[in-house]
Amino acid sequence: MHELSLAQSIVEIATSHARAEGSGRVTKVFLKIGALAHVDPGALTFAFDAVSAGTLAEGAEVIIERGAAKAFCVPCGLTIEVATHADVCPHCGVHQWMLTEGDEMRVTELEVE
Ligand SMILES: [Zn+2]
Repeated sequence: MHELSLAQSIVEIATSHARAEGSGRVTKVFLKIGALAHVDPGALTFAFDAVSAGTLAEGAEVIIERGAAKAFCVPCGLTIEVATHADVCPHCGVHQWMLTEGDEMRVTELEVE
């Protein structure tokens, strides 16, 4: 289950941030998950709760924002929005695009106290 390793890296990022700030604990973790990232938000928050137990991030609230996926259409030379890997370009109807954004997951903000 790869949500578990993602949760582990989120906890590492959050706890090292809390230590760097000299804070007691992490209260909120904001994540952005691209529309085409293969991440199950429910499984991720569940894994986060398990992995963060006993760390500075224990009990932190995880807020997930789903980002749009963007792609570059080769025939049009335009950036388009896609929702699935099977989508065609809305301008030319061709499936000749390269994903430029939307398959990533990152920590956008941390709240500590
Ligand atoms: Zn196109």
